[in-house]
Amino acid sequence: KIGPRQVKGALFTWVRPEEAKDPELLAVSPAALKDLGIKLGDEKTEDFRQVVAGNKILGWDAEKEEGGYPWAQCYGGWQFGSWAGQLGDGRAISLFETTNPETNKRYEVQLKGSGLTPYSRFADGKAVLRSSIREFVVSEALNALKIPSTRALSLTLLPHQKVRRETVEPGAIVARFAESWLRIGTFDILRARGERAMIRQLSTYIAENVFPGWESLPARNPADDGKNESPLGTGVAKDTIEGPPGLEENRFTRLYREIVRRNAKTVAAWQAYAFTNGVLNTDNTSIFGLSMDFGPFAFLDNFDPHYTPNHDDHMLRYSYRNQPSIIWWNLVRLGESMGELMGIGPDVDAEEFVEKGVRKEVADDLVSRAEGLIQRVGEEYKATFLAEYKRLMTARLGLKVFKEEDFESLFSELLDMMEALELDFNHFFRRLSYFSIADLEVNDARKEKARVFFHDEGVTGGHNDDAARTRISNWLGKWQTRVHEDWGTNSNDAARQQAMRSVNPNFIPRGWVLDEVITRVEKGGEREILDRVLNMALHPFEESWGWDEKEEARFCGDVPRQDRAMQCSCSS
Ligand code: AMP
Ligand code: MG
Ligand code: MG
Repeated sequence: KIGPRQVKGALFTWVRPEEAKDPELLAVSPAALKDLGIKLGDEKTEDFRQVVAGNKILGWDAEKEEGGYPWAQCYGGWQFGSWAGQLGDGRAISLFETTNPETNKRYEVQLKGSGLTPYSRFADGKAVLRSSIREFVVSEALNALKIPSTRALSLTLLPHQKVRRETVEPGAIVARFAESWLRIGTFDILRARGERAMIRQLSTYIAENVFPGWESLPARNPADDGKNESPLGTGVAKDTIEGPPGLEENRFTRLYREIVRRNAKTVAAWQAYAFTNGVLNTDNTSIFGLSMDFGPFAFLDNFDPHYTPNHDDHMLRYSYRNQPSIIWWNLVRLGESMGELMGIGPDVDAEEFVEKGVRKEVADDLVSRAEGLIQRVGEEYKATFLAEYKRLMTARLGLKVFKEEDFESLFSELLDMMEALELDFNHFFRRLSYFSIADLEVNDARKEKARVFFHDEGVTGGHNDDAARTRISNWLGKWQTRVHEDWGTNSNDAARQQAMRSVNPNFIPRGWVLDEVITRVEKGGEREILDRVLNMALHPFEESWGWDEKEEARFCGDVPRQDRAMQCSCSS
């Protein structure tokens, strides 16, 4: 039986993709081909087209009924703070795992939108073209920005499929891949079902198979794994991160901390590049620390910390500014699921213990130990987040070294200013990279330069008046001093500019750009536009892409006023 059901004692079910009639392969990511170790050119074969549409199952011998068979994962989740029960891959089916022999990285390749699974609940197992285009482009864009993410290999249109949402829309399949598709929700479901042995089995599997080699890392200070240096070179002052003091560390505590640190770094990158996921439920929070599940996501246009791309998120639970605390909230759920393995009792609810006959003092002691451990790991989460955030912001500002006073005088003041003046977050850094330090010596010159941060007249308005330009000028003055300090003479300015451009994207896939691509593909029947925009997303730091200069400049330019800070509904 394929239909929806409650599963017990297992974390996946064998299930086949539905047949896809006349699939049209719309786009393939060259970066994905390379990372998967697929030969360039193979994506043009009939085999490739049928595999990424779900019609041909690699490795399965139908006659002998043996070989690899596709599967869908089971998981649960906390959605908007409430327990939602069993969820699972309702419209994603994993095809196989493959290891790139050159990088030794192993990926699980899956299709999204290829039909019903036991986890489809009340829905249809399909995905519309609109949301598939969004996921396809943003997965590859984030990866190109060096933000850990699940990836996308291909986008396929199903011309005969009519998908019913608010209206009837064309269906599509994204072939996607990740080092792991496991999520906090995978643990949640086991905890909810009381399957303690499987929590151990799952944790052991992750320790030994998902993070190969991680156990050889030193148990102390692994957050400071030598990567805390500014991408520009000689090092942000290193934050030394102590492990939780006095903790008897077993492998599961170390595993929990590894998962926590990975997520801390990823959310730091989201904040540094103003990316919002929009639906950070525990089922969308990766064990591997990947950005995952791209529904109503968006990059911020003008800097507004309260912005959420999710039209239905009235409480702003998943707003930009809440992302670090929400990811931690999710990680606490994971800590509770892994509590027994970390030696702090099967769960952290004292009343439950007492009901089960544990003496009150013992129960209280277990609970305080559990809370103590999770709290200390929380300190490590904060420290790891801050170190990574500082590292990235330092690089984005073209500085070589982070100094403690930069946090207030440069970072905070910049963010306050951007918010007050409604400046565009990502444009700000890119435009800053073209300034020459020598031109910023005097206030009047700086005030004149400040004009580039405002939007074209009639486009986004902004606050381009004398007071605003003075505020920007004052900030530019402080920034200029710090750049001087780090780079020495003005003769290094070209190198500084170059370095800044290598971390500050010229192109990011904003909501309005994706919307235009969707319309042009769906309504206009255009195809080439997909490859063009994907190419920009894959090389976001370039000046130009050898396409159409005007179009490129428009997609990298000011956000049309009516298209600023768009929101999406969750229907996809
Ligand atoms: P999401 O909000 O994308 O995290 O999805 C939550 C759950 O709903 C996941 O278990 C999805 O697999 C499932 N789901 C969402 N859309 C569909 C669909 N069209 N068909 C089947 N399952 C779906
Ligand atoms: Mg999801
Ligand atoms: Mg989703």
